[in-house]
Amino acid sequence: MRTIGITGGIGSGKTALTDYLSEKGITIVDADLAARVIVEPGRPALHAIFEHFGPELALEDGSLDRAALRGIVFADPEARLWLEQLTHPLIGQEIQDQLARAAGPYRVLSSPLLLEGSQATLVDYVVVVDVPEDLQVQRASARDNNDPAQIKRIMAAQLARSDRLAKADYVVDNSGDLKKLYTQAEALHEHLLNLV
Ligand code: ATP
Repeated sequence: MRTIGITGGIGSGKTALTDYLSEKGITIVDADLAARVIVEPGRPALHAIFEHFGPELALEDGSLDRAALRGIVFADPEARLWLEQLTHPLIGQEIQDQLARAAGPYRVLSSPLLLEGSQATLVDYVVVVDVPEDLQVQRASARDNNDPAQIKRIMAAQLARSDRLAKADYVVDNSGDLKKLYTQAEALHEHLLNLV
């Protein structure tokens, strides 16, 4: 079965697009969700994180205080490296396990960092959801109730728009309204059915 990679920067509309494809019966593996699964309570990675950074990273229910961890690794490159070395192989394995369970004409791996690291090797075809940067900041900060400066910092750690577009096999332009996005989603689905 072919694996279609869907990528785009923060707030570009990957989830809006993949929700549409999911309704068509396509299995969507979301790299961000996989990254959460591997640090769920009871998982070895969570235990390792508490051992390394201290038990104060545990919330009352025993789950990970993700905001606190983000704060630590944002300020400390060594801590970030340690965390990535722990989690990246586990996230990769979780993604592969979920992809292996997929049924249907094709399957999708949706990831904001598809083209930045090794996840690109898991896909046969790359779809980029593209929006101008100012719209990206606007939509992402409205959704997350986040300060635009924080969104811009996240964008700076992701691939530049032009570099991402250069690696696309197919581009979905999400600068219009949701109706326009769904029209393109339908065209993309038809295209992918033909492709496979
Ligand atoms: P992330 O990488 O941060 O998870 P994403 O690429 O999955 O982001 P979405 O969550 O799909 O992005 O979209 C970001 C926000 O913009 C959401 O609130 C979504 O409802 C909204 N949105 C997406 N596309 C459109 C559109 N065409 N018109 C208006 N709002 C949109």
